[in-house]
Parts: sequence; structure tokens; C-alpha cells
Amino acid sequence: MSHTVLPITAKVNGKNHLEIGGCDCVDLAKEFGTPLFVMDEEHLRSQCRRFIRAFSGGPVRTEVIYASKAFISVAMCQLVNEEGLSLDVSSGGELYLALESGFPAAKVFMHGNNKTPDELKLALEKGVVHIVVDSYDELFLLNKLAGSFGKRQKILLRITPGIKPDTHSYVQTGQVDSKFGFGLQDGIALEAVKTALSLSNLELDGIHAHIGSQIFVLHSYAKAVEIIMSFLAQVKDETGVTLGVFNAGGGLGIKYKVADEPSTIEEFASVILGGVEREATRLGLPVPKVMVEPGRAIVGNAGVTLYTVGTIKEIPGVRTYISVDGGMSDNMRPMLYDAVYEAYLANRMRDKKTDIVTIAGKHCETGDVLVKDALLPAPAVGDVLTTLATGAYGYVMANNYNKQPRPAVVLVEDGSARVIIARESYEDLVRLERPLR
Ligand SMILES: *Cc1c(COP(=O)(O)O)cnc(C)c1O
Repeated sequence: MSHTVLPITAKVNGKNHLEIGGCDCVDLAKEFGTPLFVMDEEHLRSQCRRFIRAFSGGPVRTEVIYASKAFISVAMCQLVNEEGLSLDVSSGGELYLALESGFPAAKVFMHGNNKTPDELKLALEKGVVHIVVDSYDELFLLNKLAGSFGKRQKILLRITPGIKPDTHSYVQTGQVDSKFGFGLQDGIALEAVKTALSLSNLELDGIHAHIGSQIFVLHSYAKAVEIIMSFLAQVKDETGVTLGVFNAGGGLGIKYKVADEPSTIEEFASVILGGVEREATRLGLPVPKVMVEPGRAIVGNAGVTLYTVGTIKEIPGVRTYISVDGGMSDNMRPMLYDAVYEAYLANRMRDKKTDIVTIAGKHCETGDVLVKDALLPAPAVGDVLTTLATGAYGYVMANNYNKQPRPAVVLVEDGSARVIIARESYEDLVRLERPLR
């Protein structure tokens, strides 16, 4: 992880403005309007490279797969492909967009706890490499569909290892009580493996486990590795089949607040790879190919959101609300997970921070608060307010509540800014409307 919450190219320029990728954020706000997502290209590429480097060079065969749901766009898929990562999708829509970007289907992995028949057909038709199967219903459905395509589809089985990592309960996915995957308790996962091996149009390559998201402490991963490797040994004992792939999922946490101390990509790699090798030796298994699926750790800190301060309301003795021109329509995380953000005034970066304020959005909800108790220089109408680390699970969760058009996303590098997702217009908002008369 970078040492700051900001993107790696961020600095304060001579005008006392925040600058990212050589672009003055106040100028970006003027040129492209607000709210605006600004993504640092160098940061994105550097995170991709760090993952590839951390997971290669050793004796273990590996594959780094970008979890596109964290931030997907055609340009982002192209960047990820250029950097040599594979791609996770979790819906037909993400798959469609990825293929539109030119991403090779042979490097796309398909997830989801309720993939529809149409989504599975699209994946089969386009030749997605692995479909990660989540349930019995899906096993039987996919076997049937693959047959109708005259195909033998490679699959992984998603297993819930029964682990609760230290993170928000809404982003824990590996515990027993989960809608995802096959549980290890009561022999359910082993039965699923046997069933998968018996289905003639499916080729079971290995096991997938994703324990959650925004995880700081790596012992949950070490534990998951032990559990899954023991499971591979059990599969070998009971069926005689040695499964060759262990996909350890994503979830590595990032810095949202200055005080956050996530583990690094390199530490994450060493816990996973070291653990797999050690357990393989202990259990007398060949070392499987190891896959990881980072999302947030690649895009989170690469992005910031720029807003314009529109109104300031001081309630004496209570609090001061400053309202910006976006809110829950471009960042759901504070409302979904009580997520906390650092905020700056991008036009007055070095001014003395004197005021504790609440940063509210413009939506018709009391809960539409982006940051509670932010410490800022005394704010003024027209200031460019920035929230940091909004690159992951921000734009992708954007919505049109109150018929708010979704923001634009610009990619900045070396002093130039390109729009990679255009701002929605009012015309876009009525494009799908079908009038009564
Ligand atoms: C969401 C998800 C990821 C990525 O999680 P991050 O916390 O963004 O790294 C990886 N794998 C699966 C199956 C997921 O659902």
C-alpha cells in the first residue's frame, strides 16, 4: 500500500491546490464539472505491477485476477489487460463490458451466487476460462447448458471455509452463515466436489474461497489457506483426484484514514504463497496453482472524488453542515458500511484546519452524509471538496436517486486528463422512459 491515503502522484502545487497525475484538481473541477471521479493512471498501473511482482518469481505457479466489480470501465479493463492481469466478473453485464473492451475471454473468470441461465450461456458462448460454481442448482444447470453447447466447461467450486475475518459484517463472506458457496461443515463441500466430478460436461479444476473485503490482518488468510489445503488433501483421499487450482480470493484492505495500517501487497503474497507451500509439504500434496483476486487494493487509493460546496448551515452549539453537489448517488459506502473518509479542500490544501464540520450530500435523506466530523479549513461556498480513496466501490455503486446524473470519471497522467466515463446527461436519464401517451 502507499503510505498515504492519496494517489501516489498526488502533491500540493504552488497554488496551494491538490494536484494528481500532474493535473490541478481545481482546474479539473472547472473543466469537467463536479462531482467528478479522478483516477491516477500511474497509481493503477503501479498497483497492478506490485501484485504481479509479489506473486511471481517463486516456485509456485500463480495468476493475479483483477476483481472488476470494484471499478469497471472499458478503459480500466484495457489497462488491466495491458498490465497482464486476468479479470473477474460477477454478472452478465460486467462480462459484456469486459468483452466489449477487447478483454480476452480466456482470461475472464465468472462469479456470482445466482448466475441466471442467460448469464451462464453468455459465459459458455464467449469461452470464459473458469466459471466459479456457487451452488448445487448451478452445478446441474451449468452441466446441462454446457452439454447443449457441446462443451466441457472448466469450473472451480466456491467453498466457504467458516472464517469470520475482522471486517464489517456486510463484507464478511467466508463464514458458515453465508449466501455464498458450499460450506465445509457436515461434508457439504466434499459432496459437492464428488457431484462436480461426476458431471460429464464439467471439468473441476480446483477450489475458490473469498473470505471477505477490507481485511487488514492476514491471519484470516493464513487460516483459510490451512483449511482449503486440508480440504484438497481430503478430496484426494476420498476421491483419488488431485485438484490443481486454489483461488484464494481478494479482500486485502486499504488505507481510508491516515491512521489505518493495512498489510502490504508483499505481506499478503508471502502469507498466501508461503502458507500454500508449507501446507502442501505437510500434507504430501503437489503445490496447486495459486490465484488471487484483488479489487479494492488495486483501485481504491487511485481515486478521489471532487465536489463543489454549495451551502453551509451552522446550527449553533450543534454542528455545521456543509452540503456538496453529490452524496449517496456517487458514494454509498458511508450509508452501507459506516465507511469513513478523509476530506480536503482541494483549493486550499495548506490552509490551517480549524473547523469540524459534517459533509452532507444533496439527496432527500437525513442519512445522506459523506463524512461526519471532518476537520477542514473554515469552508466557503464554491470550495472544491475532495474525499479520498473513492476509487473502489464508488462509481460502480453510483445511482440516479433524485434523478441525479452519474458523475464523469477522468484518468489523469503526466499533466493530461481523459474522460474514461462521460457524465450522464438529463437526456440519458429519460432515454429508457416509455411515455403513457
Ligand atoms: C469482491 C470480490 C473480490 C474483490 O474483493 P476486494 O475486497 O475488492 O479485493 C474478489 N473475489 C470475489 C469472489 C469477490 O466477490
